[in-house]
Amino acid sequence: MARLVNAGGRALRAEILAVGSELLMPGRAETNAVFLTGRLLEVGIAVGARVTAADEPALLESAFRAALARADVVLATGGLGPTEDDLTREAAAAALGLRLRRDPGILEALRARFAGYGRVMAPVNEKQADVLEGAEVLPNARGTAPGLWLEVAGRVLILLPGPPREMEPMFDQHALPRLRARAGGTVLATRVLRIASMGESDVEQVVAPVYKQYGNPRTTILGGAGQTELHLTAEAASREAAEARLEELAARIRAVLPGRIFSEDGRELPEVVAALLRDRGLTLSVAESCTGGLLSARLTATAGASAFLERAYVTYSNRSKTELLGVPADLIASAGAVSEEVARAMAAGARRAAGTDIAVAITGIAGPDGGTAEKPVGLVFLAVEGAAGDRVRRALFPGDRERVRHQASQAALEMIRRGLLGLAPA
Ligand code: ATP
Ligand code: MG
Repeated sequence: MARLVNAGGRALRAEILAVGSELLMPGRAETNAVFLTGRLLEVGIAVGARVTAADEPALLESAFRAALARADVVLATGGLGPTEDDLTREAAAAALGLRLRRDPGILEALRARFAGYGRVMAPVNEKQADVLEGAEVLPNARGTAPGLWLEVAGRVLILLPGPPREMEPMFDQHALPRLRARAGGTVLATRVLRIASMGESDVEQVVAPVYKQYGNPRTTILGGAGQTELHLTAEAASREAAEARLEELAARIRAVLPGRIFSEDGRELPEVVAALLRDRGLTLSVAESCTGGLLSARLTATAGASAFLERAYVTYSNRSKTELLGVPADLIASAGAVSEEVARAMAAGARRAAGTDIAVAITGIAGPDGGTAEKPVGLVFLAVEGAAGDRVRRALFPGDRERVRHQASQAALEMIRRGLLGLAPA
């Protein structure tokens, strides 16, 4: 049997082909590739590409050809069933120029399975017993269609059923152990460093001189709304060695971004702030205008918010700012609802009314309408008051309404975090 090439101890490259026209319809999530990517990473196999393809013979054949030309391991899910549109076996055979043979053992097992339910197997089901020349059969404990494992020209092709409840146990029990053995003991470890107070290019400027000294770990920078992420991936002979490589680079990045990294353990900013408040036994109240409850929704998305969140006000109108938070009507009239003064007064009013240790307030112009030359769309004032210090910030966020609102909630959380940790304002 051909041995898998693992040149120079480099991690193997995999590609995943999700087969199924239904996966290309709106509202249908393609989750098999996500599952497989995580599992492959655990055994040191990086995924180079994921493709979702419709149930069309020519399309599938070319997708198999392309993947097999590039990757060491090609995994396909779906299209192994008995129906007309289940074409994966045939397409793989065509791409590789291999024949399919009907396996008597599988045929027998299929018949027995149907008999077990007191049914006679319809002839269409017979094609589920078709096996690629030279392939091994992967048993399906939860369904009829077996999987296939084929090694050809130093590459591995794995065909798996589409339903996650069939695919996942089959992969874990029959494919993963073999892949682990073939991955040559290479382990990949990843870490994500998250930063809320700097944009992508600013982060890049500071950290590039550091990470460019390292080929392993590899570093990629991802910019999102209100957040920049550094993705570090290290490759080594053991998990410990890979983690040690990650930690070495992460420590150097921390040193050039003091106080800027809010998470290295997968947590998002609301969870980090929630944990800080809980650990310190501090209570929080929230007053939101342009974010309309987004900040409170994000803070309450994970369990345990009742430990610190006393209440949240959505004070969208001027009247509500006055009635609920005691913001003087003449202050709103003179400074404008979107102003530093009103943000401060909202935070002070929320803290007073709610009796919390800390209050945070957001007021701004999310757009697309309502902007002026003086107060453009994206202008947001944020205020924090109380046990995290008294701070106010004027920010101008780019993007559409959704992005402005998200960035505003993110900035408010980062203000609380920095205040609690005694870090200088961002
Ligand atoms: P079956 O014997 O059930 O027909 P199959 O191997 O032919 O199995 P498909 O017909 O392609 O698989 O898919 C069956 C169902 O499995 C789909 O309707 C879908 O619900 C689910 N499924 C298939 N592929 C995926 C995927 N990549 N991600 C999530 N769900 C999937
Ligand atoms: Mg099917």
